[in-house]
This record gives sequence, C-alpha cells and structure tokens, in this order.
Amino acid sequence: MTGGVGMDSGVRVRLAPSPTGSPHVGMIRTALYNWLFARGRGGTFIVRIEDTDQARLVEGSVEEMLGSLRWLGIDWDEGPDIGGPNAPYYQSERLEGYRRVAEALVERGAAYRCDCAPERLAEVRKASGGYDRHCRERGLMEGDSPSVVRFAMPLDGRTVLDDLIRGTVAFENGLVDDFVALKSDGFPTYHLANVVDDRAMGISHVFRGEEWLPSSPRHLQIYDALGWEPPRFAHLPQILAQDRSKLSKRHGATSVREYREMGYLPEAMVNFLALLGWSLDGKTEVMSADELKRVFTLERVSRSGAMFDAKKLEWMNGHYIRQASHERLADALLEYWEAFPQGGVSPLPEREALLRVAPLVRERMKTLQDAAPLLGFFFQDEVEYDTAELAQKGMDAAGTREALIRALDALEGLEAFDGDSIEGALRALAGELGIKAGQLFGSIRVAATGLRVAPPLFGTLEALGRERSLSAIQKAADRLAG
Ligand code: GLU
Repeated sequence: MTGGVGMDSGVRVRLAPSPTGSPHVGMIRTALYNWLFARGRGGTFIVRIEDTDQARLVEGSVEEMLGSLRWLGIDWDEGPDIGGPNAPYYQSERLEGYRRVAEALVERGAAYRCDCAPERLAEVRKASGGYDRHCRERGLMEGDSPSVVRFAMPLDGRTVLDDLIRGTVAFENGLVDDFVALKSDGFPTYHLANVVDDRAMGISHVFRGEEWLPSSPRHLQIYDALGWEPPRFAHLPQILAQDRSKLSKRHGATSVREYREMGYLPEAMVNFLALLGWSLDGKTEVMSADELKRVFTLERVSRSGAMFDAKKLEWMNGHYIRQASHERLADALLEYWEAFPQGGVSPLPEREALLRVAPLVRERMKTLQDAAPLLGFFFQDEVEYDTAELAQKGMDAAGTREALIRALDALEGLEAFDGDSIEGALRALAGELGIKAGQLFGSIRVAATGLRVAPPLFGTLEALGRERSLSAIQKAADRLAG
C-alpha cells in the first residue's frame, strides 16, 4: 500500500454494520482495521448503517455500535448532516438511489422482474436448493403484478476475485442464484444497496469479515453489469473460540459492551482486537492506537482464523492498568463507575480524592471491576466489620485492644504521617509488644478499612490521613472494651 500520513491517498473505507443485534467483536475488529488503515494513510473512514432489512432490525443496536466505537476512540469522518454532526449514513434514507440502479439493471438486461409467489419459491428451493430462473425470460414490466427485481447471473464462466488477503478466489457463476436485488416493497437487498453505496461513496477498499466472501461474486457481477470499477476487497479472518469454532454466545461475552461492563480499558481492547488476525512481527504485543495507525498493513493480516484468547485480554488489561498514569486510572474508574454504578463507588468520589488512592490498588487489579471493593472504604464515613474480626490469630480481645491503644500512641507521635514512618513505628511497636508484625497490621487493617484484603496498609493509612486513621483505631479499641 502506498501513501503516508497526511497525504490524500484516495483511501476511502467504510464500516457497514447491519443493526440486527448486539455488535459482535468481529464487527468491531473490522471497524478497527478500516480505521487504522484510513488513519495511517490520510484516508477517510465512513460509517454506513445497512438497515434495509427492516424485518431484522433490533432497536438499540445502532446506538450500541456507535457507543462502542466512541468508547474505543474509533472516530469516523463524514455523514449526511442529518441527526447532528457526524451522524452515520443510513441506507433506509437513500432508497431512491437503489431503485434507480435496479431500473438501470433491468433496462440493460442484467436484471429482470419476477413475480413468483412465496409458495412456489419455497418449493423450488426445496427441490433444487435455489431459484430456477423461471421469470428470467418472461419480460415482466413494473406494475404488471407485485414483483421483485432479480439479478441475472451469467449462466456459465467464473467470477474471479483478487482479494488483498486471500489472493485469487474463483466462483462458478452457474452455482450462484439469480438473487433478489430489489424487493417488492421497494427496499433493496444487502447486495444491491452495498454496491450502490460503495460506488456512491467512492469506497476504495472493502474490508469485511470472511463470511461475506460468498457474496463477492454477486457484487462483482453488479459492478460489471453497470460498467463500474469495483473497489479492492479484503476479507478478514474469522474470530474463533478456544475450541476453534466461530466465537459465539455459548463461549461467553461476544460484544464490546460486555467487555466494557466487565471493566476492560478501551486501550487494552483496541490493542487486543488489533492482534486478532494481524501482527506486526509475530512477537510485539503492546502497541498503542497511535502506533498501530503507523504500522498497520494488510500484508500482515493472516488468512487463518484468529483465536480469541480471553486470558490474553485479561493480561493485557492488567498491563494497561499498571502502566496508566494516575490521571488516566482515576478517569477510567470515574467513567466506569458512572456508566455502571452498580459495581462502583456511589456517590462518585471527587477526582482529586480518587487520584490519591487509586494508585494504591492498581497492582491488585485485573479489571476496573476490582477497584470498588478495595477502595470503597476511603469514601465512607464509617467502615463496617464484625468486632470479632479485629483479633488476629493467636490473640485475644484484651491483647488486641492493648496493641491498638499502643498503636495510637505510636502514630500520634509521628512527625511525618507517611507510609515509611508509619511502617517503621508499627514494626517497632510489634517488637516491643512481642507479637508478630502481621498480627498488629491485621488488626489495624480491619479497623481502618473494614477489609481483610485491602490495599497496602501503610499507604492506606497515609492516604486516610492521621486524623481518620487514629479515629478508626480508637473506635476499634472502644469496640473491644465492650
Ligand atoms: N451489512 C454487512 C454486515 O452487516 C456489511 C458487509 C460488508 O461490509 O459488505 O456485516
């Protein structure tokens, strides 16, 4: 591929989702490859909603698709200027154009009207597996009866696709049905609308999932019949589950929304999706979106199916969490808790407060979900626990109370209330008391956080501050007196 960043390379690509349900990660991977390809070459990336199959529309799927793209930072360039800036194109608003092209095909003898009844079609499909071209020579006119427009596939010969990933693929024309291009209600089928719009929008490259490969001879024949130059095609490898079958619901989460809800970071998701069927050199794993834009090429897209390895995604997410700046981590948590309050800290904490405490738990997080249970106490006035949890193994209530009261003295006297000083003071105290450091730390941990497993203790006390730490320890000692 030629053309560099900032040049008008003539690259125009599109994502053409059909809003028929929750978008599969495969569709988002297709979006990502289109976007990386365009952005790395100064090209244009278009989103076009293919909503002509009205019976299969699922409400909310366009919003989910666009929401997932926005969340991942995949932005698109143009739209029809309806429904606000950057609204995508909707095929249902472009019906007139498809009808005109269907008419042109009929006039050229490349398509014909067919009024076969559904019962007849079902019968011939049963008998021959397809349509028997019954109406091909009948010369029906528009308005004769309710009719569809069928494309007249050549009866023999082959249609050859020169695919950018799969190389040369040939299809026997005789095996491809005379497919419907325009339905009787005036809506186009996917094949017609897809070709008409790719032409109208000046699309240079079509990247789409491998499942669309069998549609390509139909598309190429429409281009040919109209005397139009087709775009270049690249059919992307399937996404497979561990058992090597196509990734589907029965394997677990298949939509980006679900991964977002599980606490994955968009930067981890982008990196992971980019590697589903593409690699830079077979070994580099961690790459930001900006790097990916620079290095993504079709030459490195594989032909064979790409394995969706959820463990690798989890690892990658942990990596991005650990290397995020304090600001990024706090913002990601706030955004996550706002979008999914049930697993978050409520009310939402102040950003400043979160900036101080979020870094304490990053090492213990695989996903954003892991943060709220570990951090929630910072934002509560009272921590909750059973008094019995204060006494650690090998200690009784009286001994624990004594240790906590001595800890109050030790911490009160500290000049600087920072992690190192706190640690020094408490270790020395444990020695003086003749108990294990772990016993003392365990009691203070429960007192201060209400948790047995909590962020690192000394940093936690520092973040809570002297006043809150001491009052929590005092309260715990008082509970043990009762
Ligand atoms: N509407 C098709 C889909 O939902 C688009 C296929 C293509 O990109 O041509 O996947």
